Amino acid sequence: MIEGDEMARIPQQVIDEIREKTDIVNIIGQYVQLKKSGKNYTGLCPFHEERTPSFSVASDRQFYHCFGCGRGGNVFNFIQELEGLSFQEAVVRVAEMEGIPLSSQYMTTSKQVGHNKNDSLYQMNQHACEVYQHILKNTQIGQAARNYLEKRQLDSELLEEFQIGFAPDRRDFLVKVFEQRGYTKEQMAASGLFVQLENGNFMDRFYSRVMFPIQDEHGRIIAFSGRYLPTDNEADDKRQPKYLNSPEGEIFNKREVLFNLHRAKGTMRKNQEAYLFEGFMDVIAAYKSGIPNGLASMGTSLTEQQIRRIDKLVHQVVLCYDGDQAGQDAIYRAISLFEEQSQLKMSIVSLPERLDPDEYVKKYGAESFVQLAQHSRQSVFQFMRQYKRTGRNLENDQEQIAYLNELLIELKKVDSVIEQDKYLNQLALEFNVSRDALQQQLSQIQLPSPVATVQYDLPVEPDVSVSQVPKISVQVVVKKTQLQKAQELLLYRLFNDPSLNKRLKADEVFFIDEIYQEIYVLFDSILEGQGSFTIQQFLDVLQENHLRGKVVEIASMNVPKEMSDQEWHDVITLIKKHRIQELLITKKNEQQLARQQHQTDLELKLAVEIIQLTKQLKQMSQ
Ligand SMILES: [Zn+2]
Repeated sequence: MIEGDEMARIPQQVIDEIREKTDIVNIIGQYVQLKKSGKNYTGLCPFHEERTPSFSVASDRQFYHCFGCGRGGNVFNFIQELEGLSFQEAVVRVAEMEGIPLSSQYMTTSKQVGHNKNDSLYQMNQHACEVYQHILKNTQIGQAARNYLEKRQLDSELLEEFQIGFAPDRRDFLVKVFEQRGYTKEQMAASGLFVQLENGNFMDRFYSRVMFPIQDEHGRIIAFSGRYLPTDNEADDKRQPKYLNSPEGEIFNKREVLFNLHRAKGTMRKNQEAYLFEGFMDVIAAYKSGIPNGLASMGTSLTEQQIRRIDKLVHQVVLCYDGDQAGQDAIYRAISLFEEQSQLKMSIVSLPERLDPDEYVKKYGAESFVQLAQHSRQSVFQFMRQYKRTGRNLENDQEQIAYLNELLIELKKVDSVIEQDKYLNQLALEFNVSRDALQQQLSQIQLPSPVATVQYDLPVEPDVSVSQVPKISVQVVVKKTQLQKAQELLLYRLFNDPSLNKRLKADEVFFIDEIYQEIYVLFDSILEGQGSFTIQQFLDVLQENHLRGKVVEIASMNVPKEMSDQEWHDVITLIKKHRIQELLITKKNEQQLARQQHQTDLELKLAVEIIQLTKQLKQMSQ
């Protein structure tokens, strides 16, 4: 059941320890936006597509379960399924996420075992990052870059946090390092770190650039963005693009990346809020100022995948783009995209003097920036009121009416009646029109239903590894029969008090449905094998999705804590009666066959058996 027998196993004791130190709500909350509901947390299932939440996490029992698609398990199972890892790798990942120190032997094991073909790509990016960092920190050729970064107010702590490095002005620097490390030509070609010549040789893609690694949601380096380091030769400088990114490939898809997401996630979840910036330098500036939950897309406009990822993690997004016209246009586009594709609340931070966040922090300092970002936000309507003025001559009646009409559509989208009322008053006053006329016009506006216009390209997930999880179809919920309920109750009792297994065997009870039989056989073999049984350990070894989901469903049942003798008797009787009824049907069929074939002896023998079974059944019903 556990895969990879040749690898050094993490002992059960260590697994249990990690489990005890981990809160499943915290881990799953990093992937799914969870809402508290009674003892449980609910959210949209990450394993199947849905609009109303059927995914729940039980914090007391430390399970997750989806009654839409039937998946379920413990914290390790969740990471395993979502990230497409082996069980052992999932244990290591959970330990990493929770900051629980783990002996290095398991870490290396998990990396060696990784059968993921992308592993070498992550590894190469990681190596390149270490080399670039070393050059920046410790060498003479890194001096110019250090000066440049100092001027940009990036201190050593920030350089360390964002793993910033420097690619020296040589076309064969990283080529040599990587060839020495024994990477193959295929690996080097796939890495995106090199340019391959016609003769098959490689050159460094990045040179004379300050290197910013781009990480995926889990902190793995998937690409770089290199900022050209200006030299004294202006003509040379002009030939170079300011920023150069790794090409897209197996592990790097610009449409999916949100810069800083792996650092921001925790705060995003806690504050239910994310800041969205235009560039990653802005994210770093915000981070430095004390806003860790900033994100940026990679030089592209927002994509559906990115919006959905943000939507799953937070309730509110704060748009903080450049103060220039291009930035304002970008905000306008972003608002429409978020409105179309999410239910997120939005607010806007407008920066003065056409500054971008990075420039603003440099000019006015971190404190002033945080003040602005947190306490000078505009609502979407306020932004629109300003934005839609640009290029319009509002002295002209025609243009004024067009402006008001567009603005009323925006006002219609405002949820709060009080807010609407306030803005109506302001508009009436500003344009000297009657409030009633505005109100009347407003009431006539019909907005297209936002949900109807949403176009989801199902089911593209922003995370590379997540997209490997096969989406499974939703089970049709069928009402359980009494018999099924009885079998589940019996399993529930066994899970909670394994000693009942002896009684079960003495009573000669057998499960009827195949799925319960399978679960029972595994339960029994574990109990017999190790003399003890816990549900969490059971989930560790159950690798079959359908069994695991069922086990969690059973273990989450809401039944009286104590089992009464009456309950045991009722359940056992129900199951036994069913057995006998089944047997009766079989015997009657056999009897009929014997009669047709004139096998009188057999027919008589079966008749006796049938009478006995019927008697048994009668006795049980009394
Ligand atoms: Zn589901």
